[in-house]
Amino acid sequence: MHILLSNDDGYLAPGLSILAECLRKQVQVTVVAPDRNRSAASNSLTLHRPLRAQQLGEGFYKVDGTPTDCVHLAITGLLEQEPDMVISGPNDGPNMGDDVLYSGTVAAATEGRHLGLPAVAVSMGSYQPQHFESACRAIEVLLPRLPEMPTPPSSILNINVPDLPWDEIKGFRITRLGARHKSEGVVKSSDPRGEPIFWVGPPGDEQDAGEGTDFFAVRNGFVSITPLQIDLTRYDSLQKLDDWIGSL
Ligand code: MN
Repeated sequence: MHILLSNDDGYLAPGLSILAECLRKQVQVTVVAPDRNRSAASNSLTLHRPLRAQQLGEGFYKVDGTPTDCVHLAITGLLEQEPDMVISGPNDGPNMGDDVLYSGTVAAATEGRHLGLPAVAVSMGSYQPQHFESACRAIEVLLPRLPEMPTPPSSILNINVPDLPWDEIKGFRITRLGARHKSEGVVKSSDPRGEPIFWVGPPGDEQDAGEGTDFFAVRNGFVSITPLQIDLTRYDSLQKLDDWIGSL
């Protein structure tokens, strides 16, 4: 098996090397990662300038683009041998609830899925993760089961791992996305010339975080696995809207 590993925290992110090394004990791994931190890049593709990929070692590349660029490039032409699946992460911080819309980690996985490969995004439950080895263990345990994953081919798995030593993790839970309150306001400041600048504020606190959600599982020491689909159609509104537009 040949795994394409990417992330959104950039090729220097400690978790990336740790996961690559641990997976290489079992499978072939090629890393293609952004050349800097591109967290919250979502599914953006770079269309208005060329991309450059630099090989830094055996099976290790950095790209001056987004996480989606990395996976797109890797699968559609950079690599001589097409990978069998895509793993993205482990992200420095959770990707739960509404986070998945902004996440470059999740986006790298969805790009893999879009290009026809099974794909998994993995994120750590804290913003200063200490226990990347637990993400490795979680992936190692799941890896043999992934080929028989009982999900439609358009889905990915979004995995969040509590930032705990592996022997303190209680197990795995299949979850749904929770939801956050709206994010905090922008932080206004000024540059050295007195011009106003703005920092996007932190994400909102947990709002829907009850039993069954990703938030609940991770808070209680379980690895959360949420199946995600990219079809955002609100199916239960189709008929009502049809009636609403009537004979327009
Ligand atoms: Mn990130």
